[in-house]
Amino acid sequence: MVLIDDSIVRGTTSGRIVELLREAGAKEIHMRISSPPFLHPCYYGTDIDSREHLIACRHTVNVIAEIIGADTLGYLPVEEKASEMDHFTDWDKVIPIDHGYDESKPEEALTLEDMKGAAKFRGGECLSDEMTQGDWQSKLAFRCAFGHTFKASPRLVLEGGHWCPECERKSWNYGARAKVDPFFAQVWNPLHDPDEMREYLKEVTELDV
Ligand SMILES: [Zn+2]
Repeated sequence: MVLIDDSIVRGTTSGRIVELLREAGAKEIHMRISSPPFLHPCYYGTDIDSREHLIACRHTVNVIAEIIGADTLGYLPVEEKASEMDHFTDWDKVIPIDHGYDESKPEEALTLEDMKGAAKFRGGECLSDEMTQGDWQSKLAFRCAFGHTFKASPRLVLEGGHWCPECERKSWNYGARAKVDPFFAQVWNPLHDPDEMREYLKEVTELDV
């Protein structure tokens, strides 16, 4: 079987999925990644603090395939990704990503108002009525722009870059999401036509295994 994922970060999830598929009877597993190797930490969206945690920084493609247990592994070359960015011309311009709350405040000053603002900035709403100031761990209730409700901690939303698990489970609905989610629109709109509606239905997600 051919297994497609958007990235391999540490390699632990991919290894687990490959193992489960083998247990379920897959005889050959050929993994393809729809991005180039993940080589640099991103401090704004993913929970990766250093290059030593990125498997692609430490091993060649063949060795990564061996570690995760796949028969073969392939990534998209950087050139193919770069061609998608044709209409982004001003490479000297640094665009800071707005996370929808005042990041200059100390962590202990985070309030429910900050979370309500951040949720609104994602096109949704924070449904909780109370929150202990500075509590990044306890879960709050949210509703996404598509009407799903879910619970998540401020840490997961603001630092992990996570949002609605229901939307994540069904598809990648990039175009529709950019229209209702200003947070996501920041990274989608500079690179895509406003009417480009791309939706990729997911057949299997890591939440299913
Ligand atoms: Zn949703």
